Amino acid sequence: MRVLVVEDEIDIARALSQALEEDGYAVDVARDGESGLFAASACDYAAAVLDLMLPKRDGLGVLRELRRLGRTIPVLILTAKDTLRDKVAGLDTGADDYLAKPFQIEELLARVRALIRRSSGQASPLIQIGDVEIDTVAAVVRKEGRAIDLAPKEYALIDLLARNRGKLISRGVIYNHIYDDNDETFSNVVDVYVSNLRRKLGKDFISTRRGQGYMIDV
Ligand code: CA
Repeated sequence: MRVLVVEDEIDIARALSQALEEDGYAVDVARDGESGLFAASACDYAAAVLDLMLPKRDGLGVLRELRRLGRTIPVLILTAKDTLRDKVAGLDTGADDYLAKPFQIEELLARVRALIRRSSGQASPLIQIGDVEIDTVAAVVRKEGRAIDLAPKEYALIDLLARNRGKLISRGVIYNHIYDDNDETFSNVVDVYVSNLRRKLGKDFISTRRGQGYMIDV
């Protein structure tokens, strides 16, 4: 899954993107409000972490414009001070959650997971598909109760397909979700991951729509 971080403080941006990547997300970082707004409008992110104090356009301005454009991307705002006014303004402008600085990275990761889960209509962190169980908190897949050894990108792919069960997902969308802007691989690696997953989870687990994409059937 792909997540956007809009944060101008280099150290925080770096720590955030590193922690999110370790949690299995592809991460893009925007360093000011204008480029954050551009990225969030152009790409289909699973969630955004948005700082309020930003150069060029502040976080509330970015959020207001995204909602005006009808973008439903889940947004967690970072407030510099834990003031009631900041929190209320953020939530009233369309934020889904907030965290005051300084924050613990573990809490931020948990909140991002919860946002993504809720936005995909998935209240429980466990997704059960036949004898396969996907634990979206631990990022572990089990088949018949046994943990399956998956590469991080294989997990990212199964997670995307499982959350969108019954929907056809194109190679392009898959590619955007599992790679960030810094990756320079070719999109046929998606087919390689799909064939690895079929080998590990059963050949009928993921179906192919020729020339269109992949899906997990309901
Ligand atoms: Ca800032």
